[in-house]
Parts: sequence; structure tokens; C-alpha cells
Amino acid sequence: MKIINPATGAVIQEIEEDSAETIHQKYKKARTAQPRWADEPLRRRIAIIERFDALLEQNRDELARTLTQEVGKPIRQSYNEIKGARQRIGFFIKHSERWLSEEIVHQEEGLTEKIVYEPLGVIANISAWNYPYLVGVNVIIPALIAGNAVMYKPSEYSTLTGVAIGRLLEEAGVPADIFQVIIGGRQTGEALLDLPLDGYFFTGSYATGRFISQRVAARMVPCQLELGGKDPLYVPDNNSNLKAVAAAAADGAFYNTGQSCCAVERIYVHEKVYDAFVRYFVEEVKNFKLGNPEEESTYIGAITRPQHLEVLQRQVEDAISKGARLLIGGKKLQGPGNFFEPTVLTDVSHDMLVMKEESFGPVIGIQKVKDDAEAVQLMLDTEYGLTASVYCDERQRAEAILKLMDTGTVYWNCCDRVSPYLPWSGRKHSGLGSTLSYAGIRAFTRPKAYHLRALSF
Ligand code: NAD
Repeated sequence: MKIINPATGAVIQEIEEDSAETIHQKYKKARTAQPRWADEPLRRRIAIIERFDALLEQNRDELARTLTQEVGKPIRQSYNEIKGARQRIGFFIKHSERWLSEEIVHQEEGLTEKIVYEPLGVIANISAWNYPYLVGVNVIIPALIAGNAVMYKPSEYSTLTGVAIGRLLEEAGVPADIFQVIIGGRQTGEALLDLPLDGYFFTGSYATGRFISQRVAARMVPCQLELGGKDPLYVPDNNSNLKAVAAAAADGAFYNTGQSCCAVERIYVHEKVYDAFVRYFVEEVKNFKLGNPEEESTYIGAITRPQHLEVLQRQVEDAISKGARLLIGGKKLQGPGNFFEPTVLTDVSHDMLVMKEESFGPVIGIQKVKDDAEAVQLMLDTEYGLTASVYCDERQRAEAILKLMDTGTVYWNCCDRVSPYLPWSGRKHSGLGSTLSYAGIRAFTRPKAYHLRALSF
């Protein structure tokens, strides 16, 4: 498999893919090694993860450079991602013991009832490329801490990062057989689905997630899916600092070159503040520097998958053909590398692909609404259900709107953010199950109920 730098088109490295046979061998090793790993004291597994965290910090320059070179992420955002991943790891280190230790939940004379959280066993993590550290640690770290073995398939677009994660986990003390990195693309992922695993944890698109859940359904093991989104942001008419709101919304839409599952994907603005908002928004976007992701000042990097340039171009052309106004951007750049200009469309409607289909790139539509009711109706008009946000002065008004959203996460005066303290979950086509928070620690375990009665005869 060739690893290609999406910003230059150059081949960085060639790497051998796993075959069905090597995957099976890795699986057998993981299966054999897992019970001993699960028998290690919880504190020892946590201590190993602490060492992994320290290694991420020690190696961060090299890791950030590799990430930028293979996915085209602006270098400052690569450093931010590693820092964010370390914060999440810190959460797991601090809180896992509380949620994984056995609990005595009821006692009466001669009877004890307790819950023991046993690991699932050997699980698969099939992962995405857009935030390989963040979406990786959501699964890998709590799974290992809980005593599971992990068959980890990084995306074919972030393979080198996946290999680096495997190397550092081993250096930290995770036994080599317990964490198996599986190299390859779609077919390799499918080969993993053929193994008798004890859980499937997937991050990626709705189409792949649906395929995976159908394929493993008969196994009756957990299948957790973190999928795409079409996340709305609404700006009502009561904002004391509209300029700051526009800047925050633009960052939410364009950070990571718009290639975030919870990027702002569509914006609705109250008619009273629409013109001013659009003006501020475009001013902000004009300042975004597009270019070489290895330069410190770059904000918009490369589009990781070359074929996705056509998806973005099609959304823009479809919108313009149906009456949208193109205020800035609108096309891919000529020359080597995959770049698409940051693009703002107004006068958009829900007849257009850009307001319905996940863009997953630096393209945004802004639609005018007459009141909160119209905004709510449009925000709900989607097959996805990841996040929704409202920017306004009054918390009560925002919360009344957020209560109506059918999404796993809602935001008031913030967006495009994930906290390890809160469950990260999608509804509808955005997924099933939760990572992070206590829910994302327990997700890698099965509760066993103990009824313990002291014999009294
Ligand atoms: P993708 O679905 O193309 O690929 C994801 C992974 O699945 C890759 O490792 C890929 O090799 C593998 N795969 C592809 N086809 C497969 C098959 N038939 N069987 C088994 N494995 C298969 O998605 P992507 O392009 O890597 O990621 C982008 C998508 O991920 C976007 O929709 C984005 O919103 C979503 N995402 C969601 C979250 C979240 O937390 N909800 C986080 C990051 C990304």
C-alpha cells in the first residue's frame, strides 16, 4: 500500500497490507494473550497507559509531523490533536478505576449482590483518518484499561499514525499480542468482520457503519458506531457580539479543513441579523490561510481523500444551479495536492445537497430564517443526529431550542467540541452507543451479576 501525502501527491512510504492469513494469526495471538492481560491488576494496566501518555508527549514533534504529512492536517492542528488526545487519556487514567471496580449494590442478612465489570474479550476497532488520535483513544485506551485485547485497523489514510500508536503502546508495556495493528483498507476491514470477535467499535461513514452492523448482527456482540453528521448552528436575533459569534461559527465550520464529524455543516440565521452575520462571517473566512499544512500559519490544509474533491465540487455546483449565491471560494485548486477553497454559499435551501448531505470539507451554506420555529424545523430536517448549536445571549431561549434537537450533543455558545466528561454519541444515521464519560468506560465491559448467599444450614 502506498502512503501518499495529500498536500503534494508524493509517495511517503510503501507498507505491506495484512492478508486474511496474517489477520487470523494476529487474532489467535490476541485471543491467547487476553485472559492474562485481564488478570493483571487494573492499576498496572492504568500505569502502562500513563507511560503511553508520557511517550506521546516525548514524541509529539515526530508524531505531529507524520500526521500532517499523511492526512494534510495543518501542523498546529496536529499538535492540538495530540494535546487533546492526552487530555482524554488523562480522564481515563483518573476515572477508570471508579467505573470498572466491582460494586456491592445490595446486602441483607446472609446475602450479598455485586456487579463485576468483565472485559468483552478481543475487540475490533476500525477507525477513521480525520482525527486518528482522538477517535483512536476514545476506544483503544478504555478498551485496554478494561482488560480487552484490541485488533486496531487505522484508516488506510492514517496508517503511519496507527503504526506509531502501536509502537508506543508496546514501548509503554502493553504486550505485543494484546494490541494488534492491522494494515489495509476496505477489504482488510471486511476480513476483520469475519473473525469471531467480542465487539466491533467503528468510526467512519454512515454507509460503512450500516454495512458493518448488518454484517456482524448475528454474532450478538456489541457493535458501536460513531458516524457522520450534518450539524446545524442557529443564530437568533439577540446577540450582543455578532462578530464574535460569526468568528466562532466560521472556526466550527472550517477547523480541520471542515473534515470533522462534528464540524458545523449548515448555518441558520435570524433575518434581523442575517446580513451583518454574513458580512462578518465572510470577513473571517477571507483571513483563513490555505496552503502547505507544514507551515505554522496555515489554517486550511489538504483534503485527505482526492476523490472527495469531486463531492465538494458537485455540492457547490448543485447549490449554484438551484439559486444559491457563492460569496467566496467554490473550486478546487490546480496543481499538485488536493486543495479546495474555503467556500461560503448563501440563499441556500433544503433542496440543495449542501444543506442535506454531509460535506466533510471547507464548504458551508448559510440560510435566512424568520423565527426560532422555522430554525427548529430546518435543524430537525436531517437523517443525522450528532450535534446542534445555538448562539444567543439568553440561555433559556437556547435551552428551549436545544431540548427539541434529536442529537446526542447540544451546545449553547460553543460548537465543534468534545469533552471526555460527557458521552459522545450519535442518533439516527450518526451512530449507536457512546464513547467517553463513564458510559464510554463501561462500554468495553460486560456486567456480571453475583448473587452470593452464605449458607445458613
Ligand atoms: P469510512 O467509512 O470510509 O472508513 C472508515 C474505516 O472503515 C476505515 O478504516 C476503512 O478502511 C474501513 N472500511 C471501509 N469500508 C469497510 C468495510 N466494507 N468493512 C470494514 N471496514 C471498512 O470513513 P472515513 O472516510 O475514514 O471517515 C469519515 C467519516 O467518519 C465521516 O462521515 C465522519 O463524519 C465520520 N466520523 C465520525 C466520528 C464520530 O465520532 N461520530 C469521528 C470521526 C469521523
